Amino acid sequence: MSTTETFPVQKTEEEWRAILSPEAYRVLRRHGTERAGTSPLDREKRAGVFACAGCGAALFTSEAKFDSGTGWPSFFRPIEGAVATREDRSFFMRRTEVHCATCGGHLGHVFPDGPAPTGLRYCMNGVALAFMPREG
Ligand SMILES: [Zn+2]
Repeated sequence: MSTTETFPVQKTEEEWRAILSPEAYRVLRRHGTERAGTSPLDREKRAGVFACAGCGAALFTSEAKFDSGTGWPSFFRPIEGAVATREDRSFFMRRTEVHCATCGGHLGHVFPDGPAPTGLRYCMNGVALAFMPREG
């Protein structure tokens, strides 16, 4: 992958490798995909915020989470401005890739088969997210 985009949080590959788990590094920085059903966040039902595991930026709230049955944490809407997308033509498919708008870390893909009110399904890798339960 080559990109000339820049993000507010920039780190070298060495720096990312030092702060991320091997699996989070593989997903966030190498566009990997975690195995379906492996993330505890898929079953997370508490109220709170799902932040980027790379830079800590808040990306999704629990109010926008739904059970898609795919085995990946799914949301119908991100926090405004928190994520950005680009067309992904790898694997001979045309998909829309989703990444953190703050650090550029790869999060997953967005599909047009989600529930109301947006009709979108943000299919996220749980390892790319960090859940912060809301107090009270
Ligand atoms: Zn980030």
